[in-house]
Amino acid sequence: MPAVTIEPVPVSPIPLARLAEVLLAEQQDELESTVERALPLLQDRVVWNINSTARGGGVAEMLRSLVGHARAAGVNARWLVVGSEPDFFHVTKRLHNRLHGAPGDGGPLGDHEREVYERTSRAASERLSGLVRAGDVVVLHDPQTAGLAERLVTLGANVVWRAHIGLDLPNDYARAAWDFLLPYVRPAHAYVFSREAYAWEGLDPARVSVIAPSIDPFSAKNQELDPATVRAILLQAELLAGGPAGAPIFTREDATPGRVDATAELIGGARVPAEIPLVTQVSRWDRLKDPMGVMEGFVRHVLPESDAHLMLAGPDVRAVADDPEGAAVMEACSARWKSLAPEVRERVHLALLPMDDAEENAAIVNALQRWSSVVVQKSLAEGFGLTVTEAMWKGTPVVAGRIGGIQDQVVDGETGLLVAPADLEAFGAAVLGLLRDPAVAQRMGKAAKEMVREKFLGVRHLAQYVDLFEALIRGRAAGG
Ligand code: UDP
Repeated sequence: MPAVTIEPVPVSPIPLARLAEVLLAEQQDELESTVERALPLLQDRVVWNINSTARGGGVAEMLRSLVGHARAAGVNARWLVVGSEPDFFHVTKRLHNRLHGAPGDGGPLGDHEREVYERTSRAASERLSGLVRAGDVVVLHDPQTAGLAERLVTLGANVVWRAHIGLDLPNDYARAAWDFLLPYVRPAHAYVFSREAYAWEGLDPARVSVIAPSIDPFSAKNQELDPATVRAILLQAELLAGGPAGAPIFTREDATPGRVDATAELIGGARVPAEIPLVTQVSRWDRLKDPMGVMEGFVRHVLPESDAHLMLAGPDVRAVADDPEGAAVMEACSARWKSLAPEVRERVHLALLPMDDAEENAAIVNALQRWSSVVVQKSLAEGFGLTVTEAMWKGTPVVAGRIGGIQDQVVDGETGLLVAPADLEAFGAAVLGLLRDPAVAQRMGKAAKEMVREKFLGVRHLAQYVDLFEALIRGRAAGG
């Protein structure tokens, strides 16, 4: 038996009342009606969310806030994390890459991989059968948890499988991952994708829903921080050069005060100078986020034409258990950085952000996204791209790859700039354009924030979940 763990993630309730500060009147009404529908529907049921990491990445980010809101509203929402052996995560990382249409490590998805995958799924299902009851709702997130669906259905739960990744035009890599996963996913009662184009061939279309991700405007990641606090946080994190500043404080999800005490690790150690524009990409260390391409594009096309600096920031790779490739990608970036000429190297910063405290990490990301003159997300594949939403909410202009869910957020020329993901020259030109024209950058930042308010806050997300749960529970009660 593999060493499979099921760990509950404690989530603080996040009062919905605060949202009133940022919602339009009609959104406020929608939120009230969502709660009114949810409470009787979900009374006596637990709404379980199951994924494979409590930190790092977009799913963990969203669960913290949606589960927190649901709990505050009176719904018994819970979050469980499945842990397993490294072999399992090698298989699921391969699936992750293939679902994005990329070969990943190029390894097979054959009988051996099925055996590894099913071993963990069996052991995890066993544990869950002591927790989940008939009538509960279970939302399984991403490939790591698909293998739990069948058993949970047998237990009488309402089972939703949600894919947070996908690609615009499926290729053979993606189809190979679908073939691998379909037998596990199919038994679920409903399948959720972030975009319509992501729905798999081979799944009953009647069971497919589309729900886009969202951000929490009051989380440590997205809450308002004044410029002095932004500076103080980046100084404390040892990312920014400069003298003493105010207090590096933020508000935690449970409304208690937080303070940034940890420091980031900068490869090479040189901090960002305070008076110079900064271009930033914050991402997991993943080839599909193309940190190498961002570095090349910046070095070739932005650096010679401006005095800007670049920061590539990501989690401290030692801390993210479900992403075995992170360290290798980070190492590759670091090796490339070391090969740059000294005067180039000093304008490119690679930062490993501290991960011990997720909210402290989030506050640092928040400060970076606010401090930066331009945020980039030049992904080669992207399920949705929460980093884009986050920067947009802060009014920071964005240059991003024209790929996946980024296209649902960035209206090219209005709420940011889109570039063909592999076109480094276009990427450089877009970044330079924003650096040179602060008025345009500001206009786009403003429009971006309004777009996020209307489309990508939790109020819409929670309403769609309640719609789905309502349809499932009522449909099944009616014998559907
Ligand atoms: N993130 C973070 N710390 C990091 C790197 C990333 O908090 O060091 C967050 C980032 O702010 C965003 C999420 O991880 O909220 C990444 O979500 P996205 O949808 O952009 O990509 P994913 O990682 O899910 O592919």
